[in-house]
Amino acid sequence: MSHATDSLHIAVIGAGWAGLAATATLQELGCRVTVFEAAHQAGGRARRLPSSTGFDHPLDNGQHILLGAYRETLALMQSIGINPDKALLRLPLQLGSADGSFGLRAPRWPAPWHALAALLEADGLNWSERLAAIRLLLTLKGARWQAPAQETVAGLLQRLRQPERLCQRLWHPLCMAAMNTLPAEASAALFATVLRDSLGGSRHDSDLLLPARDLSALWPDTIAQSADIRFGHTIRKVHLELAHGLRLDQFPTIFDGVIAAIPPHNAHRLLHDCGDHALLARLNAFDTQPIATLYFKLAKPWKLPAPMLMLWEDHERGHDGQWLFDRTQLLQPATAGHKATGSGTELAVVVSAAQALLERPRELAIARLEEQVREQIARHPRNPGPMPEVIEHALMIEKKATFTARPGLVRPATATHWPGLRLAGDWTDTGYPGVLEGAVRSGKQAAQELHAWLSSVKA
Ligand SMILES: Cc1cc2nc3c(=O)[nH]c(=O)nc-3n(C[C@H](O)[C@H](O)[C@H](O)COP(=O)(O)OP(=O)(O)OC[C@H]3O[C@@H](n4cnc5c(N)ncnc54)[C@H](O)[C@@H]3O)c2cc1C
Repeated sequence: MSHATDSLHIAVIGAGWAGLAATATLQELGCRVTVFEAAHQAGGRARRLPSSTGFDHPLDNGQHILLGAYRETLALMQSIGINPDKALLRLPLQLGSADGSFGLRAPRWPAPWHALAALLEADGLNWSERLAAIRLLLTLKGARWQAPAQETVAGLLQRLRQPERLCQRLWHPLCMAAMNTLPAEASAALFATVLRDSLGGSRHDSDLLLPARDLSALWPDTIAQSADIRFGHTIRKVHLELAHGLRLDQFPTIFDGVIAAIPPHNAHRLLHDCGDHALLARLNAFDTQPIATLYFKLAKPWKLPAPMLMLWEDHERGHDGQWLFDRTQLLQPATAGHKATGSGTELAVVVSAAQALLERPRELAIARLEEQVREQIARHPRNPGPMPEVIEHALMIEKKATFTARPGLVRPATATHWPGLRLAGDWTDTGYPGVLEGAVRSGKQAAQELHAWLSSVKA
């Protein structure tokens, strides 16, 4: 047991973005940190895959995007010497469909004029749809970006009389992208937060930040290299009964504090006999939604009209894709150690709330997504010609990508009944849906709270 705050020894369970953010914060505060990670690599649900054979750029477990409003993530990157402007491609808020039938782009004007101008000049919306979109934003802003706790996104859109086509073209895609939950199930209150940060935020907050490196190289690699991480260690129990400190499983080490930065069901298993039935019930109340990402490589270059485009869904035809990314435009040339295999364009198709896709045979799902891209891009006025042959593909399915962001879901705080034990993760009460920024914020907050408490008891 340590007796001075500068020799505190903290255990972090989980090396996802929350656990690594906690680790970075604790290290900066002068603590000794030991991280236990069940997997054999860091990054959790936002990581580079160990192998990307056949592709020029390393693949991730899924395509991610960040927003300018992700302040803590950007600050963390900067604090460890990574320049976000180099690691991420910053684009002013813009959405455009792959077939060119819909598009909006915010000029570089001060908020809120940039968002209003984007909506007023949106292609593919008529005047009543544009005005309805502005009315929704102004109504939510007037309500301080709050919505009734039990309301769904579909309920909110109906209450604010949003035309069907506007919902299909704008609100539903935003809801699925940000919350990975169908509008009929998704929390309107969380959606209001998403809109505050995207369309309602400052000009810089609403910028889209697209990774120009693989996800691990964005910043997790840097922390993982400097931290003491025990890979392949699944922690099954936290011993909370000691008078001073906590122990994990059968390890003899007594830690001054523990941060459990693991998903809610794993936290439930870890704490199943802790006696806090309210917490256990909350941990049990989460359920999850899948996200699928199809990566494919073409035989020749095929530059898309924009690095990120919207796809229109048609589930009957297996056209489940919602977003299309031109990874060749986004990613910096292959890093040393990763062998380039050619010069064809690499694309990624993202399918959020991907239940329909999971029910299809894998090869059929892949063929239909490729067909969707081919057909929709062909209709774009600036299309790059017929799609070249697909020479490589990889379909990544994360069955438990994020929690279902339902109305009324009670999300636990980082603090627990035991001041030496803190929780972290995108599912804690961050005010955000299950996103990277929420994970980073929770990790940082858990670390700061734990350090402050230990400093006060040891002073
Ligand atoms: C395909 C996909 C696309 C996404 N797209 C976006 C996006 O575009 N933008 C965005 O902001 N967010 C996106 N997200 C969400 C984002 O990835 C998550 O919010 C974030 O990665 C969660 O980080 P975390 O640290 O809270 O949890 P995790 O990443 O789940 O980390 C938990 C870690 O704990 C480990 N672990 C679990 N149990 C134990 C145990 N008992 N002992 C030891 N270790 C344990 C796990 O192996 C894991 O490494 C996406 C997620 C997925 C899967």
